[in-house]
Amino acid sequence: MVVQVEQIREGGLTLTQPLAQPFLAEVLADAVREGFRCPAGSVLKVSFLRTSGGVLVEGSADLPLSAPCKRCATDVAVTVPVRFLLNLVPAEPRRDRADDEETKDVAETESSGSFELAQADLDTYHGKTIDLDPIVREQVLLALPMHAVCRDDCRGLCGMCGQNLNEAACGCENRRVDPRLAVLKDIKLN
Ligand SMILES: [Zn+2]
Ligand SMILES: [Zn+2]
Repeated sequence: MVVQVEQIREGGLTLTQPLAQPFLAEVLADAVREGFRCPAGSVLKVSFLRTSGGVLVEGSADLPLSAPCKRCATDVAVTVPVRFLLNLVPAEPRRDRADDEETKDVAETESSGSFELAQADLDTYHGKTIDLDPIVREQVLLALPMHAVCRDDCRGLCGMCGQNLNEAACGCENRRVDPRLAVLKDIKLN
């Protein structure tokens, strides 16, 4: 997924880019948060806007993932939204620009940045192209939730017999006196 910077015209450039399942699966393989799998591909909507110092990139995708519920280990389908706004600047200043219209000094360029630009994370691109792959890779990893739960009130597995307490009670509860659980009882997990 490479975009030529010169393709980005005055009004910007918007693309709809398929995110292939093998690509997403490979990205997830690097995730620190284990257990997330990608049964299907997705689509990235991405738009590029030239700024005085570089290119503003806004991306959006919804990833159809699955992961084991943190509490009961049942497989859960989760849709993970990936949203990003990046201000890409050239990795090295190019002194050989033919058009010399942008000769503002750096301070002026930065202070005149729009609100949107000020919000954007800064990143770099090299040469005349923007490679989206490493950007998407990083943003997917950033977007992953800590874990999945099958439902907010999932009761999890019995710590003593392993029974899935969503499906049936096991009878251990009456005998269980675990001070750690007594403390945890009042904390809302998410
Ligand atoms: Zn669960
Ligand atoms: Zn039990």
